[in-house]
Amino acid sequence: MTLAFTDDKPHDECGVFGVYAPGRDVARLTFFGLYALQHRGQEAAGIATSDGKSAYLHKDVGLVSQVFNEANMKPLIGSHAIGHNRYSTTGSSLLRNAQPFLIETIDGPLGVSHNGNLTNTLELRKMLLERGGGLQSTSDSEIMTLMLAAPVDAWSELKSNESNLDRWQQRILGLMRVAKGAYSLAILTRDAIYGARDANGLRPLCLGKLEGGYMIASETSALFTIGAEFVREIEPGEIIKIDAHGITSIKLEHDAPKALCSFEYVYFARPDSVMEGQVIHDVRQRLGRQLAKEAPVVADVVIAVPDSATPHGIGFALETGIPYTEGLIKNRYIGRTFIQPDQSLRELGMQLKYNPLRANLEGKRIVLVDDSIVRGTTSGPLVQLVRDAGAIEVHVRVASPMIKHPCFMGVDMATYGQLIAHNKTLEEIRVHIGADSLAYLSVGGLKNAIGEGSSLHHGHCTACFSGEYPIDIPAWLFGDTRDQALFEGSLT
Ligand code: SF4
Repeated sequence: MTLAFTDDKPHDECGVFGVYAPGRDVARLTFFGLYALQHRGQEAAGIATSDGKSAYLHKDVGLVSQVFNEANMKPLIGSHAIGHNRYSTTGSSLLRNAQPFLIETIDGPLGVSHNGNLTNTLELRKMLLERGGGLQSTSDSEIMTLMLAAPVDAWSELKSNESNLDRWQQRILGLMRVAKGAYSLAILTRDAIYGARDANGLRPLCLGKLEGGYMIASETSALFTIGAEFVREIEPGEIIKIDAHGITSIKLEHDAPKALCSFEYVYFARPDSVMEGQVIHDVRQRLGRQLAKEAPVVADVVIAVPDSATPHGIGFALETGIPYTEGLIKNRYIGRTFIQPDQSLRELGMQLKYNPLRANLEGKRIVLVDDSIVRGTTSGPLVQLVRDAGAIEVHVRVASPMIKHPCFMGVDMATYGQLIAHNKTLEEIRVHIGADSLAYLSVGGLKNAIGEGSSLHHGHCTACFSGEYPIDIPAWLFGDTRDQALFEGSLT
């Protein structure tokens, strides 16, 4: 597959989904759930089902709508299912890394969908290989799958009060005691689905109820798409089991601070999703308002980089009273193509993706609001596009803080060497992108806008902005040596 048009955004994680609903077409429900979560991963998709006897799987590279059709969904029968949208965070995006992983174990089939990234992968890989496990991929999700297939006390001793748990609950608890980092899991066994969330709650996971059963999903937008009601979020460190007896919840004992990824609010989650009781769109408007308070500017109109920064731009306009208008029209379908542009098309650059609305820009002083800048590769061409359409001033406002640090918890951000805000000052970035003025939201402003500090919404990761990681990050991850380490001996 060819990625012809790259944006300058952090890339998501993945989307996970699971449903237990005997009598319903669970594969079809999962298909539409994944469809609603497509923004969380576009490289591969998969669905695994179980009918209580056997498990069935189809997965491939591509968008959900490309991977599935009526013919390949027909064999996906059963009472429960899990699904996955993949954007690779570890390992490459080859088919062998596509999820769910489905294997046969001593206790029947096991399917695993994982969103996140483990930070002690090398250690876990070593533990697994020393016990005779074999790995097919470079994915930490495969490591988790194989660790779950091992004997129930393989990775940590069971406590006396855990003997009444089922063997999968015991295994999941055992894995959670040794796995470090970010993971929201949807797990399929012969008779149940399980949802589990890491102790920090870095990646989201919620529970919904639909006619005939229950479901779990990365975001509430997937619930509403298939007619399910939101029940609640799965707590950090919680394991949910859904089977014929209903819902069972157990918790990992831990003292980890809650640290939901604040970038979910800035960019990742769908605007209609709800996290921590807050509609994402509303939070994004607050981010824009906060930015306007911190960095006002005299201008004629506010425009936003579509579509992701639209609510931030509206918030900025509402706070300042400067009219909001559309200034850039995005071709929504050009993000991914198999066709490479030739050299003359490539030179058109941003015009392949965005077209300026000249009538709204000509002769005007523009505030151009973006949600984030990672490498700084698209901001300059966008500013130029707006100038070429006749704008007399372009003031760039960014509704998140300067990204100075990489993410090791499941987001493909960039390395230190690639992050423009790690390597340049604010003024140097302004000159680099050719803006008349430039301002970012402060870290305090971000926390304020996402509700940090209120009793309900405390505890967010802001590490890519602040450098304060909520978990210990091994030193080797700070280098650009990860893939090298995976393939050179440090694994065994
Ligand atoms: S480092 Fe940034 S992108 Fe990664 S989990 Fe934390 S807030 Fe999210």
